[in-house]
Amino acid sequence: MGMRGKLVAGNWKMHGNLVENKALLDALSARLSVLEGASCAVCVPYPYLFQVQSALQGGKIAWGAQNLSQHEKGAFTGEVSASMLLDFGCKYAIVGHSERRALFGDDDATVAAKFVAAQKAGLTPILCVGETLEEREGNITEQVVARQLDAVMSVVGVDGLKNSVLAYEPVWAIGTGKTASPEQAQAVHAFIRARVAVASADVANGLVIQYGGSVKASNAAHLFSMPDIDGGLIGGAALSADEFVAICLASQAA
Ligand code: PEP
Repeated sequence: MGMRGKLVAGNWKMHGNLVENKALLDALSARLSVLEGASCAVCVPYPYLFQVQSALQGGKIAWGAQNLSQHEKGAFTGEVSASMLLDFGCKYAIVGHSERRALFGDDDATVAAKFVAAQKAGLTPILCVGETLEEREGNITEQVVARQLDAVMSVVGVDGLKNSVLAYEPVWAIGTGKTASPEQAQAVHAFIRARVAVASADVANGLVIQYGGSVKASNAAHLFSMPDIDGGLIGGAALSADEFVAICLASQAA
């Protein structure tokens, strides 16, 4: 088994303002200065990237965006490119979050194009995959996750996954308070890793696969103790300093 670290990333979604962000960022900077051997990041709305860069620069917490354009530059009104994110010190860009897939038309091909755009610029994409409740109940979880994964792998090749992070996020667990049990999540994580391993065991062993879906301080340690769960993508709980710090520290201990 290759060595891979744990990564906890916050997804603020469309929340925050200058005043609230400052309080949260100050608390995170102070309380996560003790981090060692685990990694932590926050993915924030575009307008706050400068604020986040100013607050976190030189510290232990990385940052990123929640989306990006698949295009490099040009006449794309309202869009934000990978190189703009780099200008503000981003390390990560989330691609294929279920809210973007469901509400903003990000289909598999668009997600793959965004993944490529991020990597080409030197960002690390966090690729989200996951099934809806209907799909889980229809016993097609593995089929759905495989399709979402293959859509990217077929474009970038297995080596293209080296510089990326995967996030397994069952849609029915996002923002619902319903967490996948550690065993349920582990089963899908193992499935994803095995699918990548068919193409390259090395890439599979090194791949960080986060779990996302109602992770909180109270369930993080158990989830992170599973062999194929390498940290988490955190929505609601990332808006609370107490919760997010506790989750990051749980990943360090796991
Ligand atoms: C998410 O938005 O990626 C997420 C996992 O949200 P929550 O933690 O609120 O379920």
